[in-house]
Amino acid sequence: MSGLYDRTDASTAEGYKCAKCGAAFTMEEPNCPVCGFACTPDTCQIIAVSKEGF
Ligand SMILES: [Zn+2]
Repeated sequence: MSGLYDRTDASTAEGYKCAKCGAAFTMEEPNCPVCGFACTPDTCQIIAVSKEGF
């Protein structure tokens, strides 16, 4: 019966901080929405970003 909320799912997800302009965005979109820089784990810092509810 339980299991839906098995994980302590916080409202955060992993994201990137753009190495070029500093904008933060989720990993779902690897290209910076601000400057178009293509982030990878090597080039951009990985940060926790707040995830919008759906
Ligand atoms: Zn950028």
